[in-house]
Amino acid sequence: EYKGMSKDRIMEIRKHRCNPMVMKVTYYNKPVCLTQGYMQWLWDTDGRRYLDLFAGIATVSVGHCHPKVTEAAEKQLRCLWHTSNIYMTTPLHEYTEKLTAHLPDQLKVVYLTNSGSEANDLAMLMARLHTGNFDIITFRGSYHGGSPQTLGLTSYAAYKYPIANGFGCHTTMCPDVFRGLWGGSHCRDSPVQTIRQCSCDPGCCQANNMYIEQLKEVLASSVPSRIAGFFGEPIQGVGGAVQYPKNYLKEAYKLVRERGGVCIADEVQTGFGRTGSHFWGFEGHGVIPDMVTMAKGIANGFPMGAVITTQEIANSFAKGIHFNTFSGSPLACTIASSVLDTIREDGTQQTSATVGTYLLTELAKLREKYEIIGDVRGKGLQIGVEMVKDKESRAPLPAEAISQIFEDVKDMGVLIGKGGAFGQVFRIQPPMCISRDDADFFLAVFSCALQRYMESR
Ligand code: PMP
Repeated sequence: EYKGMSKDRIMEIRKHRCNPMVMKVTYYNKPVCLTQGYMQWLWDTDGRRYLDLFAGIATVSVGHCHPKVTEAAEKQLRCLWHTSNIYMTTPLHEYTEKLTAHLPDQLKVVYLTNSGSEANDLAMLMARLHTGNFDIITFRGSYHGGSPQTLGLTSYAAYKYPIANGFGCHTTMCPDVFRGLWGGSHCRDSPVQTIRQCSCDPGCCQANNMYIEQLKEVLASSVPSRIAGFFGEPIQGVGGAVQYPKNYLKEAYKLVRERGGVCIADEVQTGFGRTGSHFWGFEGHGVIPDMVTMAKGIANGFPMGAVITTQEIANSFAKGIHFNTFSGSPLACTIASSVLDTIREDGTQQTSATVGTYLLTELAKLREKYEIIGDVRGKGLQIGVEMVKDKESRAPLPAEAISQIFEDVKDMGVLIGKGGAFGQVFRIQPPMCISRDDADFFLAVFSCALQRYMESR
């Protein structure tokens, strides 16, 4: 039984004491006030249970309060919370060795941070110092952080401020073959390959060439002849699970490297097995980045991030001292280390692949049934369902309609996310311990919400 503050009292405090913009985007008309979590489940102040398909924004990787991770954390809490990395500790060194075992041979030097923004900030700095160049290119519609430097990488009007920032940051068109200028089409026979990753759609290949031409234009017109780097998520998260055509990243990396730049994969959302087929999203694109940034799922919700790079880049960066107090904290490293063990022992990546593929397949069937589902895409448990007024126009489903369905899904006991420029994409990025039964429960709830919306129009 819940004995904490009343929900009204919490709401009151939130109104007057908390970041008002968070209030503005407080997700639901009737917000949820959570008290407890276990694996894929959450409970609120009224004792209602929710199936969590958003994981605190793709962050709880192996499950809320996972018993094994919790036990490891508790043990470490009694032993040593903090010392900075000027001292040696077992958790830090055990963890960096364990983490780098998951990366290609050339990516072996680890810098631990406290968030994704901080990791991307650091990667920007390293790219610039290593190359001696300044300019950086990202995708329009990407989110790479909210710190003053990473705001330059992030390309979303809602997150931008009218202040001088982001010097040297440039954007290129995101190769979004659903909403982008040159469209594209589904591979109807193969919902699961969704869809951009297959080469059977000539429209998709054509679009790829157009987006590569766009990148070439940015390289020719907006930046000096030598650049510092290129940031890209393997699948866009906040952008709404946007997948690129099959060869885009490969071709983009080549162009960037020809201009002296390094390539950075932002794995904040796609890392740690979320895409199912691979541990890292970049592996699905057949590329090897020069730097990988990560956060969110790295420690199952405990604040942590990392940059992993090559020895050469690390050497260029070693000319000054880079230090942060919490980098390599024994507590954070113990938790992150236990997360890696749990991913292996629980078969988490495999669950992402099987349950994710099942969800994609079933959602693709709903796409055939409902005119307002324009696109179903993603990989593993990084899924986007793009809602439209109709399939022909692909115009985004208006915010009120999105909100009605979203709220209804929540009221029936499932939490999902939203993304995309118009909030038009439902995002499914759950703790990667969900079962096929959970997937079926969500599908039943989602169908019911769609049906109710259609009938209410
Ligand atoms: N990169 C990506 C891809 C993200 O989704 C986010 C957070 N939404 C960040 C970076 C920033 O991470 P953080 O919020 O931990 O600073």
